[in-house]
Amino acid sequence: MGSRHPKTANLELYVVNRLTEPQLGRLEEHLLLCAECQGRVAALDAYHAVLKEALLDLKADVHCTKDGLIYNWVEVLPNGRYAGRHRGATLDGGSDFATQKQAKTFLERSFEEMFPEHRCNRNCLPKYKRTSTDDWSNCTLLSR
Ligand SMILES: [Zn+2]
Ligand SMILES: [Zn+2]
Repeated sequence: MGSRHPKTANLELYVVNRLTEPQLGRLEEHLLLCAECQGRVAALDAYHAVLKEALLDLKADVHCTKDGLIYNWVEVLPNGRYAGRHRGATLDGGSDFATQKQAKTFLERSFEEMFPEHRCNRNCLPKYKRTSTDDWSNCTLLSR
Protein backbone atom coordinates (compact mmCIF):
# COMPACT_ATOMS: atom_id res chain seq x y z
CA MET A 1 0.00 0.00 0.00
CA GLY A 2 1.45 3.35 -1.03
CA SER A 3 0.92 6.74 0.54
CA ARG A 4 -1.22 8.12 -2.27
CA HIS A 5 -3.83 10.62 -1.18
CA PRO A 6 -7.41 9.32 -1.24
CA LYS A 7 -9.75 10.64 -3.92
CA THR A 8 -11.89 13.64 -3.06
CA ALA A 9 -14.97 11.54 -3.73
CA ASN A 10 -13.96 9.13 -0.96
CA LEU A 11 -13.19 11.98 1.44
CA GLU A 12 -16.64 13.39 0.74
CA LEU A 13 -18.31 10.11 1.54
CA TYR A 14 -16.19 9.91 4.68
CA VAL A 15 -17.40 13.30 5.95
CA VAL A 16 -21.04 12.30 5.42
CA ASN A 17 -20.35 8.98 7.21
CA ARG A 18 -20.96 6.86 4.17
CA LEU A 19 -17.60 5.37 3.44
CA THR A 20 -17.51 1.60 3.95
CA GLU A 21 -14.76 -0.96 4.48
CA PRO A 22 -12.17 -1.59 3.25
CA GLN A 23 -11.85 2.00 2.02
CA LEU A 24 -12.82 3.40 5.42
CA GLY A 25 -9.98 1.70 7.28
CA ARG A 26 -7.43 2.67 4.66
CA LEU A 27 -8.59 6.27 4.62
CA GLU A 28 -8.52 6.59 8.41
CA GLU A 29 -5.02 5.14 8.49
CA HIS A 30 -3.93 7.65 5.86
CA LEU A 31 -5.57 10.53 7.74
CA LEU A 32 -3.56 9.81 10.87
CA LEU A 33 -0.37 10.46 8.96
CA CYS A 34 -1.33 13.08 6.42
CA ALA A 35 -1.84 16.68 7.53
CA GLU A 36 -2.77 17.69 4.00
CA CYS A 37 -5.71 15.29 3.89
CA GLN A 38 -6.77 16.27 7.43
CA GLY A 39 -7.08 19.78 6.01
CA ARG A 40 -9.08 18.52 3.03
CA VAL A 41 -11.45 16.66 5.36
CA ALA A 42 -11.96 19.74 7.53
CA ALA A 43 -12.76 21.84 4.46
CA LEU A 44 -15.19 19.26 3.05
CA ASP A 45 -16.81 18.88 6.45
CA ALA A 46 -17.52 22.61 6.63
CA TYR A 47 -18.63 22.66 3.02
CA HIS A 48 -21.14 19.83 3.42
CA ALA A 49 -22.45 21.15 6.73
CA VAL A 50 -23.33 24.44 5.07
CA LEU A 51 -24.84 22.77 2.02
CA LYS A 52 -26.89 20.28 4.00
CA GLU A 53 -28.37 23.05 6.09
CA ALA A 54 -29.20 25.18 3.06
CA LEU A 55 -30.62 22.25 1.16
CA LEU A 56 -33.07 21.19 3.87
CA ASP A 57 -35.33 23.96 2.61
CA LEU A 58 -34.59 23.56 -1.05
CA LYS A 59 -35.50 19.95 -1.93
CA ALA A 60 -32.31 19.24 -3.81
CA ASP A 61 -31.48 16.19 -5.84
CA VAL A 62 -28.20 14.63 -4.77
CA HIS A 63 -26.19 12.45 -7.12
CA CYS A 64 -23.17 10.36 -6.28
CA THR A 65 -20.96 10.77 -9.33
CA LYS A 66 -17.37 9.97 -10.19
CA ASP A 67 -16.58 13.54 -9.11
CA GLY A 68 -18.24 13.15 -5.73
CA LEU A 69 -21.60 14.37 -4.51
CA ILE A 70 -23.42 16.78 -6.81
CA TYR A 71 -26.37 18.79 -5.55
CA ASN A 72 -29.01 20.13 -7.98
CA TRP A 73 -31.80 22.41 -6.90
CA VAL A 74 -34.09 25.26 -7.91
CA GLU A 75 -33.98 28.44 -5.91
CA VAL A 76 -36.44 31.36 -6.03
CA LEU A 77 -34.58 34.62 -6.55
CA PRO A 78 -35.51 37.95 -4.93
CA ASN A 79 -36.58 39.24 -8.35
CA GLY A 80 -39.09 36.41 -8.71
CA ARG A 81 -37.07 34.41 -11.21
CA TYR A 82 -35.96 30.80 -10.65
CA ALA A 83 -32.33 29.76 -10.47
CA GLY A 84 -31.29 26.21 -11.36
CA ARG A 85 -28.16 25.51 -9.32
CA HIS A 86 -25.45 22.84 -9.41
CA ARG A 87 -22.99 22.44 -6.57
CA GLY A 88 -20.26 19.94 -5.92
CA ALA A 89 -16.65 19.72 -4.82
CA THR A 90 -15.49 20.55 -8.34
CA LEU A 91 -18.54 22.40 -9.57
CA ASP A 92 -20.50 25.57 -8.85
CA GLY A 93 -22.82 26.76 -11.56
CA GLY A 94 -26.30 27.68 -12.57
CA SER A 95 -28.55 29.92 -14.57
CA ASP A 96 -31.83 31.74 -13.96
CA PHE A 97 -35.17 31.37 -15.69
CA ALA A 98 -38.69 32.80 -15.75
CA THR A 99 -40.35 29.60 -14.56
CA GLN A 100 -39.56 26.78 -12.16
CA LYS A 101 -40.17 24.26 -14.92
CA GLN A 102 -37.54 25.85 -17.17
CA ALA A 103 -35.05 25.82 -14.31
CA LYS A 104 -35.72 22.12 -13.64
CA THR A 105 -35.35 21.23 -17.30
CA PHE A 106 -32.08 23.15 -17.38
CA LEU A 107 -30.80 21.17 -14.38
CA GLU A 108 -31.69 17.82 -15.92
CA ARG A 109 -30.15 18.66 -19.29
CA SER A 110 -26.96 20.22 -17.98
CA PHE A 111 -26.43 17.42 -15.45
CA GLU A 112 -26.76 14.93 -18.30
CA GLU A 113 -24.25 16.89 -20.36
CA MET A 114 -21.75 17.07 -17.52
CA PHE A 115 -22.12 13.42 -16.49
CA PRO A 116 -23.21 11.56 -19.62
CA GLU A 117 -22.16 8.18 -18.17
CA HIS A 118 -23.97 8.71 -14.88
CA ARG A 119 -26.86 6.36 -14.19
CA CYS A 120 -28.82 6.96 -11.01
CA ASN A 121 -28.55 4.11 -8.56
CA ARG A 122 -29.01 3.48 -4.88
CA ASN A 123 -26.12 5.83 -4.16
CA CYS A 124 -28.13 8.80 -5.39
CA LEU A 125 -30.82 10.62 -3.49
CA PRO A 126 -33.40 11.41 -6.15
CA LYS A 127 -35.18 13.61 -3.66
CA TYR A 128 -33.49 15.00 -0.62
CA LYS A 129 -35.25 13.60 2.45
CA ARG A 130 -36.15 16.67 4.39
CA THR A 131 -37.61 15.06 7.49
CA SER A 132 -35.27 12.13 7.98
CA THR A 133 -32.57 12.43 10.62
CA ASP A 134 -30.26 10.42 8.40
CA ASP A 135 -30.38 12.11 5.05
CA TRP A 136 -27.58 9.96 3.67
CA SER A 137 -29.13 6.56 4.24
CA ASN A 138 -29.12 5.75 0.54
CA CYS A 139 -25.75 7.17 -0.20
CA THR A 140 -23.23 4.43 0.39
CA LEU A 141 -20.13 4.12 -1.72
CA LEU A 142 -19.14 5.06 -5.21
CA SER A 143 -18.56 1.95 -7.21
CA ARG A 144 -15.13 2.99 -8.44
ZN1 LIG B 1 -3.06 12.58 2.06
ZN1 LIG C 1 -27.79 10.01 -9.84
